[in-house]
Amino acid sequence: MWQAYSVMQSLVMLEATWEADLLIDADALAAAAFNMEVEMAALQRTIRPFLNTTAGRAITSMTRDYGIGADVTIDTDFIRELLQAQESRFAADVSATSVRGIRDQIAEGIARGEGHYQLRERVLAYYERQSEWRAGIAAQYESGTAFEAVREALAMRQGMTHKAWNDMMDNRVEARCRANSNVGSIPIDQPFPSGHMRPLCHVACRCWCTYSAE
Ligand SMILES: [Zn+2]
Repeated sequence: MWQAYSVMQSLVMLEATWEADLLIDADALAAAAFNMEVEMAALQRTIRPFLNTTAGRAITSMTRDYGIGADVTIDTDFIRELLQAQESRFAADVSATSVRGIRDQIAEGIARGEGHYQLRERVLAYYERQSEWRAGIAAQYESGTAFEAVREALAMRQGMTHKAWNDMMDNRVEARCRANSNVGSIPIDQPFPSGHMRPLCHVACRCWCTYSAE
């Protein structure tokens, strides 16, 4: 589960800021309630096991599908770099969203004349809702994205030149996914019609890429 620890800690600072009767300013309070560095480090630690597991599965799938990647592990440099870049991007995106959300919650609390206790409850409730949402994102979207990124990296390393987008061919497939599938085989360095180089192209995307040397 996601840890609300850093925010809980920071809320002590929020109360101190409030009681010291400093500027009653949403930006200042949001900054006091949220330690960006601690939060980003916690987010990276939390998503790492998801990405490592997925990357291992992706390597195995390429060995099974194409007979490649048997010499690669999740600790091979180019895989490790790829996963670290995704960890950092995820942590930066989620932290930025949280800061905006917490700032909005505090601004709303101030506008309603709430005291620091109510404000604290409001921020914690927001953070809990966010945590559930992020756990879902980590398990589905980020894992799916890592799976496809690792497969692509192995295909390129092997000198494969073409790729094709595959969808689940049921009525839940979105139009942009189907449009990507419909173009068939394209050069590996070209984007699909949706603008994506590979799946996933939205949070609930279930698509995958196949590769070939033509
Ligand atoms: Zn899709």
